[in-house]
Amino acid sequence: MLVYINGKYVPEDQATVSIFDHGFLYGDGVFEGIRAYNGRVFRLSEHVDRLFDSAKAIDLNPGITRAEMAEIIKETLRKNDLKDAYIRPIISRGKGTMGLDPRHCENPTIICAASAWGAMYGDLYETGLTAVTVCVRRNPPDTLPPNIKSLNYLNNILGKIEANYKGGDEAIFLDRTGKLAEGSGDNIYLIKNGVLSTPPTINNLKGITRSVLLDICAKLAIPFEICELGLFDLYTADEVLVTGTAAEICAITKIDGRMIGNGVPGPVYKKLLAAFQTETQNSGDA
Ligand code: PLP
Repeated sequence: MLVYINGKYVPEDQATVSIFDHGFLYGDGVFEGIRAYNGRVFRLSEHVDRLFDSAKAIDLNPGITRAEMAEIIKETLRKNDLKDAYIRPIISRGKGTMGLDPRHCENPTIICAASAWGAMYGDLYETGLTAVTVCVRRNPPDTLPPNIKSLNYLNNILGKIEANYKGGDEAIFLDRTGKLAEGSGDNIYLIKNGVLSTPPTINNLKGITRSVLLDICAKLAIPFEICELGLFDLYTADEVLVTGTAAEICAITKIDGRMIGNGVPGPVYKKLLAAFQTETQNSGDA
């Protein structure tokens, strides 16, 4: 696989970063996860915008333009002759001194890697995921805002570890006030009496797949609302689902041992999944 690193495309084993890179030392950097379908990058400009907004929020100047980043992402796909792929651009603070002061990092490190990708959850798109709520709380917006897609994913990883121990395919995070936040790498929705609801993006990442899903709801005349939700809403929903670039759209059919609805993926999920697949197969930048 060829990887872009600081201006060059090199074989992956030659793509190295300094151990003094603050991305490695402190998680000081930002990243994106992007899908390509049929050789076309899905929602490219939205991902580049979020990457640059995340960088802005941590006062990191990428040193290249959004258009240049978009071209790097497409070129990484082309150079590796990938059609269905997952693409990972990263901008880290770059090499500095051992101390955390970013002023000692002269240039950011810019990386873009890609690999072939299929359906993340395999057969579970048919049966639904088993999820568990975790004790770890989503980091509050007045600490590390969840809308910064930073290289510091420990909060998410701690939840994932907990879910692994509890036998869940995915972790569901609440925030510190007990409100529903999101999954470890996806946004969450519930459907009750035909209405889809999802939390506002104060305690979760403003997912690009989330906006695709809400657009699909509007097109299919599925009513939706953005509102605060809690455990009771989750347990008593007719359907629950998650969306993310990697996860795409997947139903959750069991949460904390409780069956959701009839315990099988429901009709609204099936409609949304079909429409999402049509959207991913028919749009994107080459
Ligand atoms: N929430 C978190 C914590 C994520 O890491 C992701 C993945 O990027 C999402 C939600 C879903 O966002 P998107 O649909 O843009 O991939």
